[in-house]
Amino acid sequence: MNHRKKIYSGLVFLVAVASILGGMIAHAKDDSLKVVFLDVGQGDAILIEQGEKQILIDGGPSGKRLMEELGKYVPFWDRKIDVVIATHPDSDHISGLVDVLKNYEVGEMIKTDAKSGTDVDKSLLGLVSDKKIESQLAEKGLAVKLSDEARLDIIAPRADENVSGEKDTNSGSVVAMLIYGKNKFLFMGDFPIEKDPELIADNQDLGAQFLKVSHHGSKNATSEEFLKAVKPETAIISVGKGNRYGHPAQEALERLKNAGSEILRTDERGDVVFECQDSKRECAVN
Ligand SMILES: [Zn+2]
Repeated sequence: MNHRKKIYSGLVFLVAVASILGGMIAHAKDDSLKVVFLDVGQGDAILIEQGEKQILIDGGPSGKRLMEELGKYVPFWDRKIDVVIATHPDSDHISGLVDVLKNYEVGEMIKTDAKSGTDVDKSLLGLVSDKKIESQLAEKGLAVKLSDEARLDIIAPRADENVSGEKDTNSGSVVAMLIYGKNKFLFMGDFPIEKDPELIADNQDLGAQFLKVSHHGSKNATSEEFLKAVKPETAIISVGKGNRYGHPAQEALERLKNAGSEILRTDERGDVVFECQDSKRECAVN
């Protein structure tokens, strides 16, 4: 390499380093918030991101798919997911999380006591203990602070509910509310319709503009009473194209339409991305 070439490649290297550093600083300082309903096929995975901080709710049915999805939104230099929440131990919610625990540093894991006894549930629990990941019990009253203005509240299950022996893992599903200024997102996991009255009785204010519809929009999701309490402007359904369960069910879609909610589906749109510029403005889908 002659002298001139050396100087040239040196400059190219410096420019590349400078632009990566610039990107890292801009990303860390950016306090806009993003909520992404990742298209993971038949399952749930939701990424909440603000600056360098991430909360991941569920991981969908495939680790490979989830890694690709996260790669689109989490910058390559950021190898830490601050909080991972498993709503319940069904494989369409936790299978992908195994790869997250293997490939990312996880700050904290939040989950219930429910155990499905499946291989994937066992490997997840094994990884949490092998990697000494801090683990907290998901129960009403627990709050995860993302920043001064953004907070995720766990609103179900209640601390006095024993979900460890549940045969139907859905009924112990974690329900959480993200609050960012006037913006509220309600995440339902696979929470069953039979328990809607209990959830309404336990929570004074369930109002939220954005609702992640329970259980992939099955007929066991989202009663009329519940929709009256939430009044969602937008309902997001995380569901796989041509899935064998026939999700979402016509009844659930009708209930949402009658409640005046706009329905956004991951099988139709791919990732559903909400951008929230700041806490004073309403989040918008793009
Ligand atoms: Zn599910």
